[in-house]
Amino acid sequence: MELVNLKDSSERVSFAQAVKQGIGKEQGLFFMEHIKPFSAQEIDELLDLDLVPRSCKILRHLIGNDEMPTLESIIADAFIFKAPLVKADDRSYCLELFHGPTLAFKDFGARFMARVLSSIIGSDKCTILTATSGDTGAAVADAFYHQDKIDVVVLYPKGMVSPLQESLIATLGDNIHAVEVNAPFDNCQDMVKTAFDDVQLKAAVGLNSANSINISRLLAQICYYFEAVAQLDKASRDKVVFSVPCGNFGNITAGLIAKALGLKSRFVIACNANDTVPRYLASGNWEPHKTIATISNAMDISRPNNWPRVEALCKMMGWSLSDFDYGSVSDETTKENMKALYQKTGYVLEPHASVAHKVLSDNLKDGEVGIFLGTAHPAKFKEEVDATLGIDLPLPQVLADRINVAKQKKLMDDDFATLKSYMLDELKLGQ
Ligand SMILES: *Cc1c(COP(=O)(O)O)cnc(C)c1O
Repeated sequence: MELVNLKDSSERVSFAQAVKQGIGKEQGLFFMEHIKPFSAQEIDELLDLDLVPRSCKILRHLIGNDEMPTLESIIADAFIFKAPLVKADDRSYCLELFHGPTLAFKDFGARFMARVLSSIIGSDKCTILTATSGDTGAAVADAFYHQDKIDVVVLYPKGMVSPLQESLIATLGDNIHAVEVNAPFDNCQDMVKTAFDDVQLKAAVGLNSANSINISRLLAQICYYFEAVAQLDKASRDKVVFSVPCGNFGNITAGLIAKALGLKSRFVIACNANDTVPRYLASGNWEPHKTIATISNAMDISRPNNWPRVEALCKMMGWSLSDFDYGSVSDETTKENMKALYQKTGYVLEPHASVAHKVLSDNLKDGEVGIFLGTAHPAKFKEEVDATLGIDLPLPQVLADRINVAKQKKLMDDDFATLKSYMLDELKLGQ
């Protein structure tokens, strides 16, 4: 598989190189230049397979036979939970992507990336350093737990992540190092940036990031779009509309790659009040506003970093941006929609899925089958869900148990020198 830097087409890398590097020169994203579609018959055959063997065929087709000899065992080890398609009302289904270890769809991408990285670094030392305001840190920590040769350092702001999120980050131990910082999230992020600029530290610990622009995360996410369609009866399979709750637009990029591979589908872009893309599609002007805090907070992004990939894909495939339906939903409407669906069918939406369900309902045409993506377990947004629906949602037992496990964490001020010496001492260099 050859990937090209979207900002400098002279930079071409293999899949393994793109995963190791993350991002290219001038902060350019790596992306494919061609996608060879499956034939209609091959798609039918794929849809008859189970998640793991089907995902092996799809990703082997994209990556090719020259790299990643252990791809098949990586997929089997990464995709160990289900993505059920659950009927939410008479017109739509939720693709529930929240049955992984941290109850978020990010478990798919993070678990796959962890295993790919581990298999390609050889004897090199590798340390993932990440700052988190909660969810991503939990998914990354869990995904890399017990991965040989890779250490993970997660910085999070003291007192500003939920008790559950802190438990997911700080109760693992082994190669997962939880660092609680006496400062807000932005300061944690600044410490990470400073670390990546520190040549000595970078070389000593083999610094790497695990963020959502890594191409391996997108490849993993392609697989569950096929999984969704495979769960429909054959008559419904060519009438599918996906509604994706968008933040950085990684998830929808993966869906569009599935479409480019031949999965028959139409896509709806669902945003909260952070509506840079909906306004752009309406007016043709790219005018990001200041980011607004909403109840669907994982989508509070006004400069979505995967958007260049969406445009590149449309160009490659000859699709027009005007083919997308889209919508932006206020917090008030998000809550009203949660209530309305719960009263109608009993299905519980958390805020992100509610945004996707609402925009889907507004844009579904007669005869179409709607699928909206459930990106987080409702229990992860328990406060909002309970208050809106007047219920008391139980936490899944595995997570409830984690709250009582002892935490292993290091507390520090937002001082880079402290972080640096901690990392150099702690990460058992040379082993
Ligand atoms: C990350 C996230 C999103 C947004 O996904 P993108 O790939 O960034 O568009 C939506 N919902 C939840 C719950 C998330 O954690």
